[in-house]
This record gives sequence, C-alpha cells and structure tokens, in this order.
Amino acid sequence: MTHPFPLRGIDEPSPTLLTLAAKYPRLFQRLESMYIYVEPGWYSLIDQALAQIDRLLDGDHASRFSLVQAKEKFGSLRFYYDYEDVENTGPERMSHRAEGLARIVREAEAASRKTCQVCGKPGRLAVRSGTYITTCGCPWPGQDPFTEDEFVKGG
Ligand SMILES: [Zn+2]
Repeated sequence: MTHPFPLRGIDEPSPTLLTLAAKYPRLFQRLESMYIYVEPGWYSLIDQALAQIDRLLDGDHASRFSLVQAKEKFGSLRFYYDYEDVENTGPERMSHRAEGLARIVREAEAASRKTCQVCGKPGRLAVRSGTYITTCGCPWPGQDPFTEDEFVKGG
C-alpha cells in the first residue's frame, strides 16, 4: 500500500539520524540497527526524548540502550527501543532507570498525538483517504489544507 502523503522522513542513514547521533553519541553506539522515519514536525519530540534519556542513562548505562525505530502509526509516534535492564531485582521488576525510560517514551508518544506531524504546531487527529494523521490543518506538501470535517471527533 502506498502512503497517500509524501513522507519527508528519510531512511537511515538520514541527515536527521546522523544529526541526532552526533548530538547524543552515548545513545547511538549501535547506529546500524536504527531507523527514524517521521515528518519534521516531530523531530523536536524525538530530540527532547533523547535528551531526557541521555540524562537518565548516566555512566555506562547508555551502552545498554539502543533506539530501534521511531515512526508514525495511526497519527501517533511509535518509539521502539532495546534496553538491557541489568539493575532489575527480579524478572517482573523493572529498575528505576527502565521505568524512567518507559515513561519518557510514553510521554513523547502522548505529545505526538497533539503535535502536527508537518510543522510542529498543536495538532489533532484527522483522517484523509483512510490514513490517520495528526495535523494543525496546514497543507501537506502537494496537498490541500485539511478541512474541519476531516478531523476525527473527540480525536
Ligand atoms: Zn501544521
């Protein structure tokens, strides 16, 4: 299925990915496995999440983290990562750092549902041609602006 909107995120190694890798080298020790594919409106959400993660994973804890994928699905950011939780105290018990990591990712994903994917302004969920997107209503490249009846009620 082809995406009806022209995605401007770029497959790795993209300029965005390389910029983030240069900014947070501790978190990008396994660059070859990573993939960021989102519109520019969400770049700062990813940047902010990585800044928080960089602070949380002090010392050599960052070497146990890898960002696997950041992408859009149903108008929401999905941020997948691996973390080797060596500080847990049992199989069912996440460490303080692992919980913090999960919270940072949850908050970034929640923020994405209120942030226009294209321009980063406050946005709401809309649907066009069966595809969900979070938008402020601004025109996508090569597309008409969104109209009020395209926004999902209660979205
Ligand atoms: Zn916008």
